Amino acid sequence: MVYQNLAKADPELWSLVKQEIKRQKIGIELIASENYISEAVLEALATPLINKYSEGYPGKRYYGGNEIIDQVERLAIARAKKLFGAEHVNVQPLSGSPANAAVYQAFLEPGDKVLALKLDHGGHLTHGHALNFSGKLYNFTPYEVDSKTEEINLDILYELAKEVKPKMIVAGFSAYSRSLDWKKIAAIAKEVGAYCFADISHTAGLIAAGLLASPVPYFDVVSTTTHKTLRGPRGAIIMCREKYAEKIDRAVFPGTQGGPHENVIAAKATAFLEALKPEWQNYSQQVLDNARCLATELQARGYRLVSGGTDNHLLIIDLRSQEISGREAEKILEKIGISVSRSTIPNDPNPPFKSSGLRLGTPAITTRGFKENEVRLVADLIDRALKSGGDEKTLGLLKKETNSLSEKFPIPSL
Ligand SMILES: *Cc1c(COP(=O)(O)O)cnc(C)c1O
Repeated sequence: MVYQNLAKADPELWSLVKQEIKRQKIGIELIASENYISEAVLEALATPLINKYSEGYPGKRYYGGNEIIDQVERLAIARAKKLFGAEHVNVQPLSGSPANAAVYQAFLEPGDKVLALKLDHGGHLTHGHALNFSGKLYNFTPYEVDSKTEEINLDILYELAKEVKPKMIVAGFSAYSRSLDWKKIAAIAKEVGAYCFADISHTAGLIAAGLLASPVPYFDVVSTTTHKTLRGPRGAIIMCREKYAEKIDRAVFPGTQGGPHENVIAAKATAFLEALKPEWQNYSQQVLDNARCLATELQARGYRLVSGGTDNHLLIIDLRSQEISGREAEKILEKIGISVSRSTIPNDPNPPFKSSGLRLGTPAITTRGFKENEVRLVADLIDRALKSGGDEKTLGLLKKETNSLSEKFPIPSL
């Protein structure tokens, strides 16, 4: 993209933007929740649709002048429905957290009981963490991964559900590398009289590609961000059965949000179009292949992975045997231009700030064109950096290798 007006009008800001563009270009992005949008999606974001107030829904707005905006929003909805086979879609949520706020508000009263995966076992803040609105407003009971397999055990979830009798069961994760049996979870929810809510923020792109199972046919309601594996703009959508459409729409507006960001909705529409193309499957398959390759390569270098591997786009390294904390590892990799996020591991002996794990994901490097050959080089860079003992000279050399590898793979929108 060209930004000549911005560069001229605000050189101070432009210099920061330029630095960030450079950082993204020369670095290697392994944060599992990040991706690079296409030029088309970036251009959709920069359209004058941002100027419009459109509180309400297509055909029922609280402002005039929405004839075109209505068509934009209907287009985004139609494409999302097609992509996920959903009965009803709300495309207005500003991001994943507000989407989840709306889902809870639609189905729950404050104080209602909810089951969700514990944060340090792979869950998300909006799944009932004490510092989050979810944990303050609702009465969450966390479920955990099995201490032996480090996978979610549905027999244990079933027993817990019978005991707690929640009004809702949440399934979904931010740091879990295995797949979920949606049908079985939905059956458990039905048996105990709970709503079932799937938060597929991390895996939506892989589900859209048909490579991972979808909860949409079984679940009452499904939310997802649009900016992770789905490779769209920062935002979210909520999908639900037709019978809950009104509940969900009202919970988004006026329940939790005001005017929707129609430029972002337009960018979501373009991203959905990209994900509807046959190439999307190839991309998503490569995301999975790269994650498996990264897992195998790290294991071959002596790293233990939580649950022993991955079925999706992410993996979690257990660093307890490496004499380095997740935070130190994150810092060292940052020095060589590789971005990762520290992560807790199940039953982490260390506090979240110093957690013992490292979460890596392959959506962004795959968008950039990395395949198994490059992934092997990345695993090697990570290993050498983590074993460098922080030696500045070694890290300096590794940084050069990172930069020259990434510069061979230009990012489409930069
Ligand atoms: C990322 C994520 C969210 C929140 O998305 P934001 O856009 O950061 O608010 C919610 N749920 C899960 C499972 C996530 O991974």
